Amino acid sequence: MDGPMIAGLPYQHHLPEHVGVLVLGSGLAGCAALLAAAEAGQYAVMLEKTADIGGSTVRSAGLSAFAGTDEQAAQGLDDSVELLRQDLLETGRHAQDEALVDLYCEHQMDTYRWLKGHGVRYGQVHAASGQSAPRSHPTDTTGMLIRLLTAAGRLGARLLTSTAAHRIVREDGRVVGVEVVTTTGDKQLVRADAVVIATGGFSRSPELLTRFAPQMQHALHAGGPGCTGDGMLMAWQLGAGIVDTPYVKGTYGIYPEPHPDEDGTGILAVYKGAIAVNRDGRRFVDESLPYKQIGDAALVQPGVTTWQVLDAQVMAQSNDEVPIYEFAGRERAGMLLRADTIDELERAIGLPDGSLVATVAEYNAAIIHGEPDPLGRRHLSGRVGTPFALDHPPYFAHPTGTVVLATYCGLTVDPQMRVLDVFGEPIPRLYAAGEVIGGFHGAGYMTGTSIGKSGIFGRIAGNHAAAEDSDLPW
Ligand SMILES: Cc1cc2nc3c(=O)[nH]c(=O)nc-3n(C[C@H](O)[C@H](O)[C@H](O)COP(=O)(O)OP(=O)(O)OC[C@H]3O[C@@H](n4cnc5c(N)ncnc54)[C@H](O)[C@@H]3O)c2cc1C
Repeated sequence: MDGPMIAGLPYQHHLPEHVGVLVLGSGLAGCAALLAAAEAGQYAVMLEKTADIGGSTVRSAGLSAFAGTDEQAAQGLDDSVELLRQDLLETGRHAQDEALVDLYCEHQMDTYRWLKGHGVRYGQVHAASGQSAPRSHPTDTTGMLIRLLTAAGRLGARLLTSTAAHRIVREDGRVVGVEVVTTTGDKQLVRADAVVIATGGFSRSPELLTRFAPQMQHALHAGGPGCTGDGMLMAWQLGAGIVDTPYVKGTYGIYPEPHPDEDGTGILAVYKGAIAVNRDGRRFVDESLPYKQIGDAALVQPGVTTWQVLDAQVMAQSNDEVPIYEFAGRERAGMLLRADTIDELERAIGLPDGSLVATVAEYNAAIIHGEPDPLGRRHLSGRVGTPFALDHPPYFAHPTGTVVLATYCGLTVDPQMRVLDVFGEPIPRLYAAGEVIGGFHGAGYMTGTSIGKSGIFGRIAGNHAAAEDSDLPW
């Protein structure tokens, strides 16, 4: 192990010979599975490929989608599990496995309570992509994982970092463990009664993106450095099904050049009232759509880079606690252009003469006269908020690209999180959760459901994996 040690985590340096539940990957899905398995009384061990814990989870904006929470009630926000379900299906355009949507809805509240019971805390709730009611709950993801791992450690669970699973091993039809390549290059089998794959997606694998998502060739890439699709490939070798690859999408909002203050999340000023324009100074999309649909539209614009155009009213809604709404911080970091008039802003961006002036004038006039928006925008995001005229100086422009943050497709699983083979049969004793699974999001994406599903499905995977008969000599 060569990464920084985090005090209190249950590190172990030597590979065990035989464990109850072996969890691959230390993002939220893995941590939730490890703790659930430990709480069920299993000897649970986690292998993490990189020196640090957390994968994409600790690089994320930390928003979880839950409905009916204490935080929503405290803010006077109406939401329900029925509305959550309807939004999930509509956002995914009914292209997902409804059983997984139902599973999320059924277990979101008990998982939220479980996480809070382990000390996880959520901040002010916001609306974002695909939400009819504000339900994006921000949290400190590193703190969350430390709490879960520490709790698991107290129950005897262990964590090995800088230890990559290389192949999943099957004997007589059932999974019996994982082959690990040690630092000396030797291969060693760790036997397990059940294996949970929680290795995240493949946003960091150019090869797999080229193979499964060639439409993302002009997008930028983010995510945990270890997220190269290992778990998906290991299960594929055993005959696992893979779904939803046509729906790999980029996320709109990222600053398109390397910048020390770009945390990989980007901003979504469009959801607070900004418009998005292309290199011709024209709007090109209904800005209230889920940001992956905006990303699809942006990727086919000339030159790919677009601009979010804000006025002072949008800037006034900046919120430092929520990375996607941290407009003022980015202005301080020099990532936004600023001007006193739209005409000046147009010149500062370098758009064709009169183009942005005409676009903003048309947009404002339609709102002021109550006319329908030609691109169909009726809300700010999802069904929340009402568009307003951009007429309060100063004005700002954020150059904006599209980034693959997560891959939203992967292994076929059933509601116990058992990995299913290409014919729909469970691969005995193999489980998966988190970004490595497919079937849940369908054709679109609601903010907060990647972190949400990692916690909810990770816990379910850990519970079911823990119930497998043990070969351990207790
Ligand atoms: C910038 C950014 C912002 C985001 N914001 C949000 C948000 O606000 N809300 C939301 O819902 N989603 C968000 N996402 C997506 C979300 O963070 C991820 O989908 C989710 O955290 C995945 O969790 P996971 O546990 O499945 O995988 P990860 O957290 O990626 O963890 C997987 C771990 O497995 C390890 N691993 C890989 N291969 C192996 C191997 N062979 N052996 C052992 N270990 C291995 C990896 O190193 C990694 O540590 C964001 C993503 C990014 C990049």
